[in-house]
Amino acid sequence: MDDKLNDLPCGFFTLTNAGVITEANRTLLNLLQYESGDMLHHHIEAFLTVANKIFFHTYFYPYIQLHGHVNEIYLTLKKKDGHEVPVLLNGVLRERDDQVYIECVLIEMRKRIEYEKDIVNAAKKLEELNKEKDAAHEALKALHKELEKKQEELTDLNRTLELQALTDGLTGVSNRRAFQECLDAAFAAFARSRNPFAMVLLDIDYFKRINDTYGHPVGDEILRRLTQELQAQIRSIDVLARYGGEEFAIILPGANRESAVIAAERFRKSIEEADWGEYRVTISLGAATVSEEDTAESLIAKADQALYASKSGGRNRVTHSED
Ligand code: GH3
Ligand code: MG
Ligand code: MG
Repeated sequence: MDDKLNDLPCGFFTLTNAGVITEANRTLLNLLQYESGDMLHHHIEAFLTVANKIFFHTYFYPYIQLHGHVNEIYLTLKKKDGHEVPVLLNGVLRERDDQVYIECVLIEMRKRIEYEKDIVNAAKKLEELNKEKDAAHEALKALHKELEKKQEELTDLNRTLELQALTDGLTGVSNRRAFQECLDAAFAAFARSRNPFAMVLLDIDYFKRINDTYGHPVGDEILRRLTQELQAQIRSIDVLARYGGEEFAIILPGANRESAVIAAERFRKSIEEADWGEYRVTISLGAATVSEEDTAESLIAKADQALYASKSGGRNRVTHSED
């Protein structure tokens, strides 16, 4: 073999049609670490892995006999030390002097295979990272949901607390603080519209006696029932509040002196006539209608004085502050 062929930048070898190696260039020998005597006159299968031997039989031979060539066959050869070398092989079937033989060139594939492995690994890594990203995204979404839920719960809780802060625990109506806020709002509306409003203060007559005679729980029950009774009597725009122990306040929007007295009288009568069983329950009421010079304090004071007048006048009655 001439030097040019010997030192080609690729492996070159020739096979008989039966697969026996008749030529092998230096590049191939160096690649596989053989001396020329190790390869020449040996069958090509001696240098193939088991799997490749089968492949050679089932594909290489039939194909090259049929088509006269094979292109880009991927094979694994065995080096002298037993290590494997992946190669890419092209073969051509030739005829010379009535002899058929096969010429093959091959190049080592290691670099490309390593690149391919790197690419596969990188793709795998990417897939894993994507999975992690998806998992993190899901976790984040769950956290967001949890946060939203907590915020809703907090809003609900705040609403409940706000309501509790403005509600009387025993009777469920507005407490004194809520009443004060409503009264301020009524004054603000009055300042804008000059539309009058009235307030009524009412107090249960001789309530101490009921407590002393029947006990505190009965007193509590009467307070609750009295609240229900009054609530049934007021309009939806009126505000009923528990002002103190057994004292209640009612704001009557739009009420002048006359209509305030009529409403208060209706309240008094409904309590007097309600079915209290063995107990007798009556209330005394003091009404006051707003005037230009009034403040929340002065209006409450007027209603309180009117209530005092109802008490000292014999109880179970209505007094308007202007009477
Ligand atoms: P008057 O006709 O002058 O108003 O007489 P009274 O007995 O109603 O007045 P007084 O102020 O002497 O007594 C009020 C009573 O109301 C005393 C207190 O024990 C009772 N009371 C206040 N708050 C409650 C409550 O939440 N439950 C009960 N059961 N009783 C209460
Ligand atoms: Mg009382
Ligand atoms: Mg009282």
